[in-house]
Amino acid sequence: KAKEDGRNCFRYFSMNLQEQVQKRMELETDIQRALRDGEFEIFYQPRVAAEDLRIVGAEALIRWNHPTRGVIEPSEFIPLCEETGLIEQVGDWVLGIAVDQQVHWRNMGFPLVVSINLSPRQFKNEDIVSKVAKAIARTGCRPNELELEITESMIMEKDHTVARVVSELTKLGVRLSIDDFGTGYSNLASLQNFPVDSLKIDRSFIENMRSNQAITEMIISLSKLMGMKIVAEGVETFEQLNWLREKGCQEFQGFYFSKPVPAAEFDTLLIPAGKRDRA
Ligand code: C2E
Ligand code: MG
Ligand code: MG
Ligand code: MG
Repeated sequence: KAKEDGRNCFRYFSMNLQEQVQKRMELETDIQRALRDGEFEIFYQPRVAAEDLRIVGAEALIRWNHPTRGVIEPSEFIPLCEETGLIEQVGDWVLGIAVDQQVHWRNMGFPLVVSINLSPRQFKNEDIVSKVAKAIARTGCRPNELELEITESMIMEKDHTVARVVSELTKLGVRLSIDDFGTGYSNLASLQNFPVDSLKIDRSFIENMRSNQAITEMIISLSKLMGMKIVAEGVETFEQLNWLREKGCQEFQGFYFSKPVPAAEFDTLLIPAGKRDRA
């Protein structure tokens, strides 16, 4: 009986697995097509300075305009890209577009810091250094106006390649920021060994601010002592903004200011409607 159950179980599982494999393969070819046919688009979300709430930066966030499925969020395809290695091609594309956009905004008179997200696979491959160097050389983008967002776990690994990549990127002069800070296992002390420019406090802390006030305050003050800029992600309300500002958080990003928008729409955030004719 047990054997029978096992077999049924196996059959059921294997069918599911087959379906899953099929789905993945479809998605993989879909992603390759998307790259070829230009179905990806980058949206940008503003980052504003605490003092005057001026836009000082933009985070590049990928979207997929799928011909039949509509807009697909990165959480639905970035993990598969990461697993299959397609992230290299997708990431190269993102980097190229983002530096062009940085130059476009600088030429408009807005020297924003444009940040892109790097996945573990991209970051563990030394090629990232020459790719970034080439992107900078091609566009004339200033290195310190380009920021790479990585997560805590990516630098906590005792990996020699990672240490080398970090030091080479630092030599190029690009900025490094730790994304989703507070969700991983790193501690601020171990970050001291890395030339990190800023920490982005994870959205979950801001979302449940009441229960996280003490820890958020501690993150802000310690990172200040360590000379890192502190950025709050996921700021949605005036209350959150005020509290974070009072505690000394230097930059904000979140729906309270703007959700991620297409590049052309971002231009209109930089130049308010009344001034657009004159600009
Ligand atoms: P992330 O880098 O932490 O990006 C912030 C995410 O939070 C974005 O989701 C953004 O839309 C969302 N967000 C920003 N402000 C608010 C807010 O006030 N409230 C709420 N509820 N959400 C807010 P998105 O665009 O769906 O991106 C999800 C994740 O996908 C990113 O998280 C990043 O890890 C990854 N990702 C996006 N684009 C790329 C890319 O080009 N390459 C790689 N490797 N990963 C990417
Ligand atoms: Mg990010
Ligand atoms: Mg984040
Ligand atoms: Mg995130």
